[in-house]
Amino acid sequence: MIYLDHNASAGIRPEALAAFQGAASETPANPAALHRAGRRAQGVLEDARDRVAEVLRCSSSEIIFCSSATEANNISLLGSAEAMRRVYGELPHLVSSKAEHPSVLGPLRHLQQLGARLSLASLNKGAKVNVAEMLELANPQAGATLFALQWANNETGAIQDWDLLAANKTDSDFLHCDAVQGIGKIPFSDSIFSAQTLVVSGHKVGAPKGIAALRLSPLAMLDPIFFGGGHQRGLRPGTESPALASAFATALELTVSEQSQFATNTGAAKNSLLSILQEEFPQLVCQQPEEGEALPNTCSLSFPGLDGRKLLPALDAEGLAVSSGSACSAGAPKPSSILLACGVSVELARATVRISFGHGQNEIVGKQVGAMFVSVLQRIYKVGKL
Ligand code: PLP
Repeated sequence: MIYLDHNASAGIRPEALAAFQGAASETPANPAALHRAGRRAQGVLEDARDRVAEVLRCSSSEIIFCSSATEANNISLLGSAEAMRRVYGELPHLVSSKAEHPSVLGPLRHLQQLGARLSLASLNKGAKVNVAEMLELANPQAGATLFALQWANNETGAIQDWDLLAANKTDSDFLHCDAVQGIGKIPFSDSIFSAQTLVVSGHKVGAPKGIAALRLSPLAMLDPIFFGGGHQRGLRPGTESPALASAFATALELTVSEQSQFATNTGAAKNSLLSILQEEFPQLVCQQPEEGEALPNTCSLSFPGLDGRKLLPALDAEGLAVSSGSACSAGAPKPSSILLACGVSVELARATVRISFGHGQNEIVGKQVGAMFVSVLQRIYKVGKL
């Protein structure tokens, strides 16, 4: 099996697993307990927090550990909208994009049901958000605005224009950055750190599943959405896991320090796969923005005239673990709403797969995958035409 779904989950790095095991056996106690064993657990937890803060260029008090980026996005968006309502007397105008992950769109839609105005900017080729439109949609005369924009898109790899958003925000605007897909794949840009809330997921960078970080700038306004404990300033009550935090810090440090090597290797893998496929299937459509505006490891490939329902199982049977980029409900594959928002037809969106290369994969893997893809596609193009 060749695993090509790293944007969904990167797999645990051995160093992170070792850190988890070491910390788990050293810290049986609750980190909130006052005895020596508790203080030891707290020491391991706080050491991990310091290391995550260092990577994310902030102080340790600005890091809140959560169980997932989905939870962190919910805490950020619902909590800051609630704080803005308390301060300004009404919910903010929510301005976001059609490219956002469901863990961002879900809380935004919930706030819309509570009475907030929600405006979603359109997408250009390859799910590149029209940030100029986001800025036009916000009306400074109509009260405070909460902008939510991802750093990079999980399906097509489009890198969003944070420089433009950060340069044009006003003092009363609130910025939320879902940075899950950019970390370790592209160099940090200063502009994402202008967001008051920023979210990173552990399992996308080689930590175990079950840990994420919310980076909360001192300028953030955030009310709690969970109650019942004073942990982490009352913003994310619940016992923290020193072992998960330790594994996360280790994985994050490694992933960020190896970013440029990752980009070179996975970029070479992607390019060799694309050139093999483009030569064999000239009709292939690559759903990505212009050169240089996409993550190095990600490609979203559409095969016109192919029955999408046959594509994924055939690739899986051949040993290629790719993502359909579509949600599956009640056995009926739904086309990706992000691709539809880019103007891709339902048929073509259904005949699309996402390949995301990861740590340790390079040009050799790209060529191997290319050869396997060609044999599967030749077979299903013969028997599986629409
Ligand atoms: N945001 C983006 C852009 C993602 O790609 C994902 C997961 O795929 C998430 C948020 C949610 O991350 P988690 O699995 O940690 O909840």
